Order: sequence, then structure tokens, then C-alpha cells
Amino acid sequence: METKKILIIEDEQSISDLLSYSLRKEGFGTKAAFTGEEGLQMIAEYKPDLILLDLMLPDMSGFDICKKVTKEHPVPIIMITAKSDTFDKILGMELGADDYITKPFDLREVLVRIKAIFRRIELISEAIEANEFNALQLGHGIEIFKEKREVVKNGIRVDFTNKEYDLFIFLADHKGRVFSRAELLDKVWGYDFTGDTRTVDIHVQRLRKKLDERKDTSIIETVFGIGYKLI
Ligand code: CA
Repeated sequence: METKKILIIEDEQSISDLLSYSLRKEGFGTKAAFTGEEGLQMIAEYKPDLILLDLMLPDMSGFDICKKVTKEHPVPIIMITAKSDTFDKILGMELGADDYITKPFDLREVLVRIKAIFRRIELISEAIEANEFNALQLGHGIEIFKEKREVVKNGIRVDFTNKEYDLFIFLADHKGRVFSRAELLDKVWGYDFTGDTRTVDIHVQRLRKKLDERKDTSIIETVFGIGYKLI
């Protein structure tokens, strides 16, 4: 298997060194950036498979980087936050972070989370390979190009974040089936993700905003008392 590249954007040298050391020991490739600007440059040049992103950087916030990254090319992001940070978990997830860890963290836990993210990506790509490379017609003028992780509506590419895409594909793969918020959190974010179910509501709202033509009907139906389904 190809070596997975992890970019560490963290201004505290000791934490950065500790992460680099542990990740390399596990067989990952790493590079470290110590400012946001350096981080953005390395994202473009190093093309990491995953980013460990400190929320509080000297020149910009991790949120700003998150916004830029998910817009340009989706790559999984784990946010690193300090206990003292007034960290808005929901905002982080909304901006496309896949998971987050709080300092001081247990290195084993960091590794477990990283591996869980890579495992999910692998499962998704296996599913893609098993499928055909054609567009999946979903109705409502929506087509899915899984090999490119792209959704097209009436011929125009829909700008999804990484997680919005994952959620949409999951619902599309199980069209007509109702899932509870907890089930979606489990299937799309992974069992080890500790966010709450509001994260699901926020992502569904965003999908609706991007996909629905009319305000009174939605491609994603709320099933009262249960959860959501794609119709
Ligand atoms: Ca910091």
C-alpha cells in the first residue's frame, strides 16, 4: 500500500514533533507546518492524504484553513483544539472537519482516529471500484460521479464539503430507506466520532440548500420522530 501522507499544521514545536515521530513510527509520511500560511502552501505542494490542524495558529485560525481546503480539494481534516479554546464543534464540522481531538491528547487515540478515517476512505474507494465508472442518475436532475466524488445538478457541479458528499452518497445508496440521526452519525462519521446528532441536521440543511429547487419539497425528507430519507 502507498504511504499515506499526513500534514501537521501546529505551531507548538513539541506537539508537532511528538505527532511526527509517532506517525512516522506507524509508517505514515509526515510534513510539518508551523503557521497557517506555510500550511496552505504545503497543502498545495505536498498534497497530503490527511491534515492534523491546530485551531489556534499565530497568523490565522484553523477554521480559515478548513474553509479554504474543503473548497479547493477535499481532504480529511482532524482539528486539534486546546481545552481552553472556545471551540465550536458544530462550526468545525460544518466547515468540513472530519473529527477533532483535544489537547492534551492520548497519542493512541489520535492514531485510532486517523486509521478510522483512512479505513472509511478505503471502503468507499473499494465500493467505487466494485461499481461502474458511469454517472448514477438519481432523478431530480441529479447525477453522481463517484470516481470523481462529484455531484452534478442540472449539469452544474454542486459544491459539497467532504462530509456533505459522504452523507449524500450514503443516503443515495440507500434511497427510500429511513435512517435515524444516530445511525447517520454512526455510518457517515464513524462510530468513534463523538459529535452530537445536531451535526446531522446541519448537514441535511446544507444539502437541501444546495440541492432543492423549491422550498416546500425536499429531496431529503424528514420522517417525523425517526430521521431522514432520500426520496
Ligand atoms: Ca496553537
